[in-house]
Amino acid sequence: MTLLYTDPLFLRHETGRHPERPERLRAVTARLAKSGAASQCVQGGYQPLTENEVLALHAPAMVRLARRTAEQGGGYLDPDSPVSPESYTVALAAAGACASAVDAVMWGKDRNALCLVRPPGHHATPTHSMGFCLFNNIALAAQRARQMHGLKRILIVDWDVHHGNGTQDIFYADPEVQFFSVHRYGRGFYPGSGAADETGTGAGLGRTLNLPLRFGISRKEYLAAFAAGLEKAADAIKPELILLSAGFDAHAADPIGSLGLEVEDFAEMTRLVLDAARTHAGGRLVSCLEGGYDLEALALSVEAHLRELLV
Ligand SMILES: [Zn+2]
Repeated sequence: MTLLYTDPLFLRHETGRHPERPERLRAVTARLAKSGAASQCVQGGYQPLTENEVLALHAPAMVRLARRTAEQGGGYLDPDSPVSPESYTVALAAAGACASAVDAVMWGKDRNALCLVRPPGHHATPTHSMGFCLFNNIALAAQRARQMHGLKRILIVDWDVHHGNGTQDIFYADPEVQFFSVHRYGRGFYPGSGAADETGTGAGLGRTLNLPLRFGISRKEYLAAFAAGLEKAADAIKPELILLSAGFDAHAADPIGSLGLEVEDFAEMTRLVLDAARTHAGGRLVSCLEGGYDLEALALSVEAHLRELLV
């Protein structure tokens, strides 16, 4: 069975007129309910992270700024990243759901999980909330896998259309986490990092694999490049667990990203990641929602992703 983590609390990060808005999750949960996909999952329970757990990866000043800005009624952590009064609470909950999903797939009988959380996380660096992200959910999930479960070989796959710069920064010198990011790159596309020659440093040298792709690439080329990169990354670390930063903003209809992908491409990529999880990690895979800003494309793509996880 697949574990599904959702909570109406995740709607209470209120961002106003902003692409990363509560309606995203409403559209996804409505679609999964209507199609029956949600009812085939086990609903996962979770604990929010504590501030101390977040401080394992993020600077005290960054965490304090997020908390105080929310407490003071809201504001901006960077020009792209608004917070509302409950955003700090929601961010701890979102990261907690991802970490609890790791606990569940490590301890329980269910092998994979989908965490439908917001705010997203992969742009949050060790020292800054940015790019719609408060805290780095996927990195905090990886931290849980190490701290609680003693894992030494973790693969983070990031297929959000944007480079996961925060995740890269957090683990850049870390030999225990292999980071593989496929993303649109060039001509000033956000956030600007993620070149192929960014490969890690020190003990983490070779543990970062970036696959920067140009706008206009064909779906076939994209999928072939993704498959080859994934195999290389998985073979490099032979992961005990795979974590997936699942953004759906590479979809052709996405107003922010778009690399021309269609819903069925996310199904195909899910199959590839699942294959890697079965080969190396006993099928253990935790998928966490990142971006995706066209409501219909997002809802349909998440459904296609979930249907593959259910197989
Ligand atoms: Zn994105």
